Amino acid sequence: MKFKTIIPLVISLLFILSCTNNMKKADLILLNGNIYTVDSEFSKVEAFAVKDGRIIKTGSNTEIQNEFYSELIIDADNKTVYPGFIDAHCHFTGYGLNLITSVDLSGTSSFDEVIQLLKNHNNKHEPTWLLGRGWDQNDWEIKDFPTNKELNILFPDKPVLITRIDGHAALANDFALKLSGISNDEKVEGGEFVQINNKLSGLLIDNAIDKVKKFIPENDNKTIEKALLLAQSNCFKVGLTSVADAGLEYNEIQVIDSLQKKGSLQMRIYAMLSPTEENFRNYIDNGIYITDKLSVRSIKLYADGALGSRGARLLEDYSDDAGNTGLFLHKPEYYNEVCSLAFKNNYQVNTHAIGDAAVRRMLNIYSKFLGGKNNKRWRIEHSQVVNPDDFKLFGQYSIIPSVQATHATSDMYWAEDRLGKERIKGAYAYHDLLEQNGWIPNGTDFPIENINPVYTFFAAVFRKDLDFFPENGFQTENALSRKEALRSISIWAAKANFEESIKGSLETGKFADFVIMDTDLMTAHEKDIPNAKIIATYIGGKKVY
Ligand SMILES: [Zn+2]
Repeated sequence: MKFKTIIPLVISLLFILSCTNNMKKADLILLNGNIYTVDSEFSKVEAFAVKDGRIIKTGSNTEIQNEFYSELIIDADNKTVYPGFIDAHCHFTGYGLNLITSVDLSGTSSFDEVIQLLKNHNNKHEPTWLLGRGWDQNDWEIKDFPTNKELNILFPDKPVLITRIDGHAALANDFALKLSGISNDEKVEGGEFVQINNKLSGLLIDNAIDKVKKFIPENDNKTIEKALLLAQSNCFKVGLTSVADAGLEYNEIQVIDSLQKKGSLQMRIYAMLSPTEENFRNYIDNGIYITDKLSVRSIKLYADGALGSRGARLLEDYSDDAGNTGLFLHKPEYYNEVCSLAFKNNYQVNTHAIGDAAVRRMLNIYSKFLGGKNNKRWRIEHSQVVNPDDFKLFGQYSIIPSVQATHATSDMYWAEDRLGKERIKGAYAYHDLLEQNGWIPNGTDFPIENINPVYTFFAAVFRKDLDFFPENGFQTENALSRKEALRSISIWAAKANFEESIKGSLETGKFADFVIMDTDLMTAHEKDIPNAKIIATYIGGKKVY
């Protein structure tokens, strides 16, 4: 009797041992997830295993548990899991620097409020330059552009520069203008020093801003480090694991690279170069630079200004400003020269173009280099107002429209004033743009918009602001489906950076960058989406939030 029970026990023990021997060790196993892999089939799984920072298998709980064991098991408790979100166009470093060095003027309801915030900041921090960012006269009771009159009275011997929300207009006080050597009859190509009664009003448009900005003392590396770490901690909270930083200086990229190598900066960064001699010499001339965390293989250019400040270059006059078509920032030769350098060195070109004339100009310049369908993935950042005749060029030359869905819902209150009833139909036309190549990357342009990728998803799908206005959505014929919107902030954003083989979906061999969320964006009621919260964020299988 005793003998009989021992035999099956030995057999089952041997069976268990042989299983354990065949089982592979993983660094992390996630079970019981409602997991959207965002692979080409948009398939869902329950579990995956991670080793050395990458996903080694996805499948059902049983499949994963039969093949792997790990000391670290996450029970996702049926919560939703997505690939880590990717912002295809933002100003990550600038956002961090703003938080540290300048007053947040966004959401102010009057110029008086702006003044009050500046006074408070000045009393508290006594900065050498008093800087602010984020005001929008469209939010004020008096919607005219401000003048520097009050700034001159309050700050007669301290330079003040406060930038509009879109970065394409700024107000400087007289002291800042004097310090920058700006004379009363100053002119600049691709910009304007606005005058009232033959005197400078302090309002600067586009390239005029740089004439003052260049006198602001450069941020030292310590400040940049602090800014990056602050930006990353805020971004992890909203589930971002990769960002494309649209326009960086050489020293900023150096700081990023060294912090990533030290391990304190874990955010993955796609660095678009500002077109400076220093960047050309150190990066473009030496080819593409890629680590696990950093990609340097693209240049960021600007074709025009922004719609809000009427700097975007239109084919016809602004509907609310006869005789004004906005501004081109440089001559065509400039773009030819930089594009040619990029083409030779296999760099991607990403040009900011908002007005239909600027978009058309860049489509034409790009197409001369690209020749037809190609895999260069040259991008037009924003692609905001597109003439109906020009949509097809994106497809014919495989040019990637890189869009920001929240721009549609931030601008919808006044965009029709600028563009008129007809022209607005070709604006914020994300679905029409998606159809050209079959994919489209989405971002925020933060700090112009909020950093939260869920807002991007919500705006893309519902075309409403966070107060659910307008009731039926803004130009919903150009809404994206939920699937398309999710892809636009994951796999398509990765593809816009040539990174679709290492990130953007949860598949074997890719980085284990993922988020656990309290809401299923694919099925949740519209009203619940803006409040969706991240429970945890992982980069390379390591918890970062
Ligand atoms: Zn931008």
